[in-house]
Amino acid sequence: MTKSDPNYQKSTWTTQNSSSLYGLDRWGEDYFSINNSGNINVHPKGKKGHSLDLIHLLKELKGRNLKPPLLIRFDDILEDRIHKLHQAFENAINKYDYANNYKGVFPIKCNQQRHVLEKIITIGKKWHFGLEAGSKAELLIALSLVDDPQSLLICNGYKDKRYIETAILARQLGKQPVVVIEQYDEVERIISASNELRAAPLIGIRAKLSSQSSGRWKSSTGEKSKFGLSIPEILKTVKHLNKAGLLKELSLLHFHIGSQINDIAVLKNALQEAGQIYVELKRLGAPMGHLDVGGGLGVDYDGSKTSSSASTNYSLQNYANDVVATIQECCMSNNIEAPILISESGRSLSSHFSVLIFNVLGTSAVQTDIPPLTKNESLIVKNLRDTLNTLNEIDNGKKVDISKLQEAWNDALKFKEDALAAFRLGFIDLTTRATAEQLTWACAKRITTLLPNSQLVPEELKALQAALASTYYSNMSIFRSAPDTWAINQLFPIMPIHRLDIQPNQLGHFADLTCDSDGKLSTFIDNGQTKSLLELHPFKPNDDYWIGLFLGGAYQEVMGNLHNLFGSTNAVHVRLKKNKSYQLDHVVRGNTKSDVLEAMEHDAEELLEKLRIASELAIQKGDLKINDAQRLIEHIETSLRKITYLQE
Ligand SMILES: *Cc1c(COP(=O)(O)O)cnc(C)c1O
Repeated sequence: MTKSDPNYQKSTWTTQNSSSLYGLDRWGEDYFSINNSGNINVHPKGKKGHSLDLIHLLKELKGRNLKPPLLIRFDDILEDRIHKLHQAFENAINKYDYANNYKGVFPIKCNQQRHVLEKIITIGKKWHFGLEAGSKAELLIALSLVDDPQSLLICNGYKDKRYIETAILARQLGKQPVVVIEQYDEVERIISASNELRAAPLIGIRAKLSSQSSGRWKSSTGEKSKFGLSIPEILKTVKHLNKAGLLKELSLLHFHIGSQINDIAVLKNALQEAGQIYVELKRLGAPMGHLDVGGGLGVDYDGSKTSSSASTNYSLQNYANDVVATIQECCMSNNIEAPILISESGRSLSSHFSVLIFNVLGTSAVQTDIPPLTKNESLIVKNLRDTLNTLNEIDNGKKVDISKLQEAWNDALKFKEDALAAFRLGFIDLTTRATAEQLTWACAKRITTLLPNSQLVPEELKALQAALASTYYSNMSIFRSAPDTWAINQLFPIMPIHRLDIQPNQLGHFADLTCDSDGKLSTFIDNGQTKSLLELHPFKPNDDYWIGLFLGGAYQEVMGNLHNLFGSTNAVHVRLKKNKSYQLDHVVRGNTKSDVLEAMEHDAEELLEKLRIASELAIQKGDLKINDAQRLIEHIETSLRKITYLQE
């Protein structure tokens, strides 16, 4: 292949280029890589086990009639995350000679799916891993799933009397529910429930720390935060519990400074403050024994290892070290026993294991191809051709004069406006107008290839690239599958999962299936920064183009909604088996159209019946043939049983 060959570019592009372009080598941890075929490989057991070619897997799933959009849950990744968290605390405990242990809980609100929680409980058994509930419904899940008497069951959230009584009674079932006082008025309810039942719950207190987190969730702490007791309230609570004879049950101090802590310095401050409160509570006579540092352990979504909002400037091990060392120091210097350390890490455990795959349905972009010359072209079109020729004569090997580019673009825009005015007045026809528009965009395209990569480029010219970019229509709903991208501008790594040995030479963003102009993915990770366009491959109508959204296993599923009545996608649980094979542990069918209609109180049968009656009338009037009526009803009947996305 020679340099003049148009495929030359291809041959110099390697999968390593793709890996760094999409940041996969930075955010993929040990779980994702690109193989020699240019496909993403998933390593569900990290470095330990074999890997799966994601495209092969998808083709085999397709054979089982499971097509994108599809959520693939790699349960081995979940297992590895839980393992790594415990390993990190174990390392830290050994390193600092900490005199107690670590006992984590999973916050149910992160991912309430039954198969996911059951898996977490099974995996976590050997560490007595427990659950954290934030509502009565979640408490019900926690009570029924956790049967290990040594596992903790942390009860957070607003609590009415029934919630408290349930926790008290569950203790008599041999479980370890800790009722964490989050609001001062819960103290009174706990006391009266205990008196009534003549039994007490294990009690915890959530402290409202003054150390404030940074980033999106910073308001979870500080004096104005929604949850937790202020220092005066904590003192009042201790007095109150003491008087009621319940101080002996006060065994846990809890804090939670917000999700996705970006900066480790923030955590250190909070730990020091909480450590001192813990010491004071001991001094006031509470038995204590547990310190719960809440959630907040972050995920490095963009792989930049910085304190930017989509990243963290610390590792899992740094986190565990800081928790252990800070509390160790605090207890040592105050001569009190080290507590059992608890964390409620949700995001960090459950983000990596689930991958959303969606297919591209088509693309659209402004037309930039140059229309062939015709006889007697109008002056406007001639002017535009001249402008384009001027641009084509500029040698992009040399230093480009930006002012010349700006001048040419001003001309092109002026001629385009002339074309519009001439069209409105009836001087040019539709074809000429189309030619003028295409030539204008051809000028824009030429300009973007000439622009130097410099700060000095005027915004107007920089914006041309975005104007030329393509929209990739995708078979999914962001409101259902990635709601945080819309609600709080959260970033996830998004990239093609194949063709990664070929240079992506288009720029684009994604539009989803909903009729909502917000239904798009147009902010992408860029190593600590963001970009509004992603490098993509040209879409070919008869070829699959599959895109993966990664690290979306926390919060997205439950926050997703039924906007435009797009329901959940199909989901599969994949687990590695020996001999390079795998097994589908569960297939969780996505919502059917019947399901989503019924969620809105419609009755699918009734809707069908109305259509049946309407078609009978049309048959009688002779407007519809019997077999066409049958065809219509069959389409609708089948459709009601199928999922809400496009399936070819
Ligand atoms: C949401 C929440 C968590 C989970 O936080 P992550 O950042 O996902 O680890 C833990 N504890 C409490 C009290 C929460 O509200």
